[in-house]
Amino acid sequence: MRTRHVRALVLGAGPAGYTAAVYLARAGLKPLVLTGIQPGGQLTTTTEVENYPGFADPIQGPWLMDQMAAQAAHVGAETVFDTVVSVDLSVAPFRLETDDNEIFTCDALVIATGAKARWLGIPMEKELSGFGVSACATCDGFFYRNKEVAVIGGGNSAVEEALYLANLASKVTLVHRRSSLRAEQILQDRLFAHPGISVIWDHIAEGFAADISGPVPVVRAVELRHAVTGTRSELPINGAFCCHRSRSGDGALPRSGRHRCRWLHRDSC
Ligand SMILES: Cc1cc2nc3c(=O)[nH]c(=O)nc-3n(C[C@H](O)[C@H](O)[C@H](O)COP(=O)(O)OP(=O)(O)OC[C@H]3O[C@@H](n4cnc5c(N)ncnc54)[C@H](O)[C@@H]3O)c2cc1C
Repeated sequence: MRTRHVRALVLGAGPAGYTAAVYLARAGLKPLVLTGIQPGGQLTTTTEVENYPGFADPIQGPWLMDQMAAQAAHVGAETVFDTVVSVDLSVAPFRLETDDNEIFTCDALVIATGAKARWLGIPMEKELSGFGVSACATCDGFFYRNKEVAVIGGGNSAVEEALYLANLASKVTLVHRRSSLRAEQILQDRLFAHPGISVIWDHIAEGFAADISGPVPVVRAVELRHAVTGTRSELPINGAFCCHRSRSGDGALPRSGRHRCRWLHRDSC
């Protein structure tokens, strides 16, 4: 195993990692960015991004991340395409082992391993992701102004997303598989008080139906099954938000000791 020491190491090559790298490089700390299995992070999986400042027109996610990588390189950050599989934060300098059997030690470590949305894993969800199916209301809600959307879930994330969407969409339907929500009471109170939101109780979202009449398939309905009677139905919508709590990478990293980075092996959204 080869060992290499750097002053500042950034774990993760998404927007957060490259932002840290730019600042560290400009502070003269010669950072090294370890990309993990998804160089560029989550934005490489999307097409149009229109909420980053500085761009009048929508930009492509992968292009934006190429620009961030180039900017980090321009100011002196080094990027290594490797994944950390274990860390030892109980020693100084910190010690990290990678998939390629390298050992990195560093005086400062920035953990920017992101978070991943938890998708429902139901039929047509992946195929229609970006075509009416989304896991992020703040990212995509804008596209559903004055349209009808469904939010699937019953926890804090789902209720927060429904409340956010209610400011944009003409109608929001929360679909929940149980007869009560898990969300905090204050969020439930806001949800029930909102005239633009209705709830479909005891229904399981089993899949999405697509409208295939246009150049690309787009979602047209959520396929539902009643949790008790088993009766099947469709809820016509223009957009659907699959809102389960996102999985955090860095939150899974304890502060000290030697730890396996188990989050690495979790499914992506
Ligand atoms: C389909 C989709 C569309 C989106 N659209 C928008 C949008 O339009 N606007 C918007 O603002 N946001 C959008 N988002 C959200 C946005 O992508 C995230 O908020 C953002 O990417 C988070 O950045 P991050 O740097 O914290 O983490 P991430 O982008 O998740 O990057 C995490 C990085 O950590 C790396 N990593 C993880 N574990 C390890 C390890 N053990 N060793 C080394 N590296 C590791 C990964 O490989 C990756 O490079 C979208 C997300 C998705 C999935």
